[in-house]
Amino acid sequence: MDEKEKNNEQHQERGKEPDVLDSTQTVIHKALGKLGYSDEVYELMKEPMRMMTVRIPVKMDDGSTQIFTGYRAQHNDAIGPTKGGVRFHPDVTETEVKALSIWMSLKAGIVNLPYGGGKGGIVCDPRNMSFPEVERLSRGYVRAISQIVGPTKDIPAPDVLTNSQIMAWMMDEYSRMKEFDSPGFITGKPIVLGGSHGRESATAKGVTISIKEAAKRKGIHLEGARIAIQGFGNAGSFLAKFMHDAGAKVVGISDVQGALYDPEGLDVDYLLDRRDSFGTVSNLFKNTISNHELLELECDILVPAAIENQITEENADRIKANIVVEAANGPTTMRATEILYDRGILVVPDVLASSGGVTVSYFEWVQNNQGYYWEEEEVEEKLEKLMVQAFDNVYRVAQMRNVDMRLAAYMVGVRKMAEASRFRGWI
Ligand code: NAD
Repeated sequence: MDEKEKNNEQHQERGKEPDVLDSTQTVIHKALGKLGYSDEVYELMKEPMRMMTVRIPVKMDDGSTQIFTGYRAQHNDAIGPTKGGVRFHPDVTETEVKALSIWMSLKAGIVNLPYGGGKGGIVCDPRNMSFPEVERLSRGYVRAISQIVGPTKDIPAPDVLTNSQIMAWMMDEYSRMKEFDSPGFITGKPIVLGGSHGRESATAKGVTISIKEAAKRKGIHLEGARIAIQGFGNAGSFLAKFMHDAGAKVVGISDVQGALYDPEGLDVDYLLDRRDSFGTVSNLFKNTISNHELLELECDILVPAAIENQITEENADRIKANIVVEAANGPTTMRATEILYDRGILVVPDVLASSGGVTVSYFEWVQNNQGYYWEEEEVEEKLEKLMVQAFDNVYRVAQMRNVDMRLAAYMVGVRKMAEASRFRGWI
């Protein structure tokens, strides 16, 4: 047993799951080992090639100055410029930003985009800041990282608690600094500033395509299939609508307050309307169930679309779905992945299932670079083509190598990075 595996085993003995960077490194190590790559390649890939920490002074509305800490990680730019979101959250850490940049490299490799992975974050809580304070922070972040980002270097995008308005401010700041209009500096912009049609629902569209492909492999007809979705935010709510429209029965949905369940199928349009009026849905009803109960419902397809570490060693034995499709980042722990695999449950991993967002971000960048824009149907058609190919490829590797789809997806992603790094003469 090597040091990496020993380390993770020690975590498990102490009853603690390894952190997100540890577990990502473990799967990368395993994937490279399966492909026969040397430890040098692992050394290159286990951490971002560049990590910048910045301190951003911001004038607050009350006249005081607050200093915020921000990060930008660039994992590996052998294939092309790095790309990935910027999150604004009080829990942002350097380790998390590093791990998320690696995931972006994997996603780009799996869907075959000409990018490496990047990620950024600022330790802050925009929910407790005024609009002008958030604007000053966003602009300050761009000034602080401007040397290492740009349309051909590293392209940011929205992530947790950042949105198209923040992307617009960031794009404006960058364009002013460089003294030319640079829509390709960032993606997830408003349509009027060069955003792409279909960006808002892209992640859910990608999850829908993954569900259709997985259902085909498992002989499940989507028409009438029972699906439970944890999370009713951007990813979960668009997904509930797409599944409902495809004839599936959405039997469970949840948000942070709790979960709703109806074995006959919930009225998704009504719930979307309530959610838009009241912010949440589950607290508007009696007879709700808990988020834990939702995960263990009798259903065909389970989609965790909220937060990480939801399916663990503790509940993996009680999951009843035939297919688990990860819309959220990191909802299933490593040990739970093994348990589900041994039980014959097909897990479509986050790095594949939730890559619709970065794929349409890529389309946005392409449209910005060429200055010619596509209709929504064209975006959807192109997304479907790339996602189906990616699913097919990962599924084939999983079957051929007799491994779960997470390991297969990592094998596809790291192989591309390793090949590009080798041709460049880095390894
Ligand atoms: P969001 O903030 O719009 O929605 C999150 C949902 O999860 C909300 O309904 C919230 O009430 C619920 N939630 C929060 N805490 C919860 C808890 N403890 N238990 C149960 N539910 C809880 O977020 P989103 O954009 O829909 O993202 C959801 C997940 O998908 C995240 O893991 C995110 O990283 C991942 N993801 C999103 C995108 C995207 O483009 N939106 C892309 C890739 C991955």
